[in-house]
Amino acid sequence: MSDIIRLLPDSVANQIAAGEVIQRPASVIKELVENAIDAGATNIKIILKDAGRTLIQVVDNGSGMSTTDARLAFERHATSKIKDASDLFALQTMGFRGEALASIAAIAQVDLRTMRKDDSIGTRILISGSKVESQQPEACAPGTNIMIKNLFYNVPARRKFLKKDSVELSNIVHEFERLALVNTNVEFSLIHNDTTLHQLLPGTLKQRIVSLFGKSLDHQLIPIETATSLAKINGFIGLPENARRRGALQYFFVNGRNMRHPYFHKAVLQCYEQLIPSDQQPNYFINFIVEPDSIDVNIHPTKHEIKFENEQPIWQILSAAIKESLGKFNAVPSIDFNAEDVPDIPTFKPNANAPHDIELDTSYNPFKVPNGAHKAQQPIPSRVNNTSWQREISSTTKNWEKLYEQFENSHNDINYNIHSSSINNDNNLFNNSESTDNNILSSSINAIQFKCRYIITPTREALTIIDQHRAHIRILYDQYLELATNGELATQRLIFPDVLQLTAAQTIILESISEQLLQLGFDIAYLGDNSWSINGVPSVLNNANPIDSIMRMIELIESSGENIETEVLDKIALSMARSAAIKPGQSLTHEEIEQLLGNLFKSSTPNYTPDGKTIIASIPETDILKLF
Ligand code: ADP
Ligand code: MG
Repeated sequence: MSDIIRLLPDSVANQIAAGEVIQRPASVIKELVENAIDAGATNIKIILKDAGRTLIQVVDNGSGMSTTDARLAFERHATSKIKDASDLFALQTMGFRGEALASIAAIAQVDLRTMRKDDSIGTRILISGSKVESQQPEACAPGTNIMIKNLFYNVPARRKFLKKDSVELSNIVHEFERLALVNTNVEFSLIHNDTTLHQLLPGTLKQRIVSLFGKSLDHQLIPIETATSLAKINGFIGLPENARRRGALQYFFVNGRNMRHPYFHKAVLQCYEQLIPSDQQPNYFINFIVEPDSIDVNIHPTKHEIKFENEQPIWQILSAAIKESLGKFNAVPSIDFNAEDVPDIPTFKPNANAPHDIELDTSYNPFKVPNGAHKAQQPIPSRVNNTSWQREISSTTKNWEKLYEQFENSHNDINYNIHSSSINNDNNLFNNSESTDNNILSSSINAIQFKCRYIITPTREALTIIDQHRAHIRILYDQYLELATNGELATQRLIFPDVLQLTAAQTIILESISEQLLQLGFDIAYLGDNSWSINGVPSVLNNANPIDSIMRMIELIESSGENIETEVLDKIALSMARSAAIKPGQSLTHEEIEQLLGNLFKSSTPNYTPDGKTIIASIPETDILKLF
């Protein structure tokens, strides 16, 4: 028998490598910008067409390449950044694998122009699918100008996996944000289809944060800083009251590299544990500086996760630094919030953004309130008045305490909540036209609530357990879709429109779903500069925070990247249902339980939520018998 092992041709090996390094247009941008940074660029311009599908161009004023280097750069394992294995442990550069350009050239058409500062003529190289089409001298500006055209043009399967443009573009903008945050001394611009999304001047980290994410951040961050022999840590952490339920801005950097670090993330969250409700997360921008040989950046091909040698002590150092800053802030709270600092226009403050911020209204009960009416009944806090910010913060803290108490109190195991209620069915959240007719179940249901979270009811052969939150999601979702299809979802106008400050990435997503939002009863308007005004919300969302609901939708669309319009509508309806549904932990009266179950069993798919989570589980009698 003959031997069967063959070496793969380079073009194939490169395509395989590309599968690891280049998942989407955003990965190309990351690699090219990192190359520009490694080349010492102080000005980097990114130009995109069609979310990078058609064109990704990166222009830098870095070192440029000689003709030979320009040609070699596209070979696999060609790098100027390490010479031998020992260099791996003292990395100062972003790249080092020598894989990126070879990978990119394997799956796209590349047009490179490059010249070193002292050369009199530069080089232009055209490559298509790893094949060099031409190489010639050309007059260029010093630096490198690389165009990547028609990404995945020769790998249809990969091309098909690209998500719709708004989603790819938002990925790109996120990647751009990460790159811009670690290189604050570099001037950046990001241009998409002739629109400038970002134009950033060199500056401090704080200035960069504000120019990327909006002016409101300026008042929301406190510095952290510590220096030990193991690590220097600096950066900014968010004030507790600016914690977010959705889309918190959370960034770790190490030695100028962006990283994900779930373990340190936990350390941060732990410091905020007593300060913010458990469903909220703080913003943070934290920079670690450590000896290069005490981290391993080599464990992940895209180098996102980084292993630290001294993880545990650094956890302690980080935690102490955060606590110290939080403590300092608490000791002198008036510094950041004295009356002179109060701006004239309402600024986005997630916790103070609305008269209907029910998370803080611990006495609020959706069952006792007529649809939409509570909004009108509540006093509307003025967000613009003079000294109220200070007060707002302390009253918010008290409410959190109450909130915690409430959760603690609700930990009694079984809540026999069968007291009679004066509830008026017409005003009920579960209200359906025939809500009193709980057909499938007998007119008086034998059911109890367990842990304020599940409803337990015996059926003939089993004990049935229903997740109350999920059940309500199913009910509301069905209802919203039906109303939306019939054009019957009314808009409740907000007395004071909410102002929502988004990032560029989020604005792109929100724009792309604005039609469906309109159909579902939202009234939003773009104010420019990534800020939006929420003028009205679907009246069915009577108790949900509008900003929160919209942030959820953006996140949902971003993470799923649906292409088809009806799916977007479904997704938004689901997100609305999630916002409005009764929460786990809410105690229900017997009438409410009855209505919930009644309405659930009217659904054609009561067993699962629209995203496939189990609503109903049952323990068969036979299993119960086995217990005894
Ligand atoms: P790596 O960055 O891991 O070395 P790449 O494939 O990204 O590998 O790049 C290969 C080489 O090409 C780099 O080591 C560098 O010498 C050169 N190079 C790439 N981009 C640039 C640029 N924008 N300016 C100057 N040199 C570059
Ligand atoms: Mg590189």
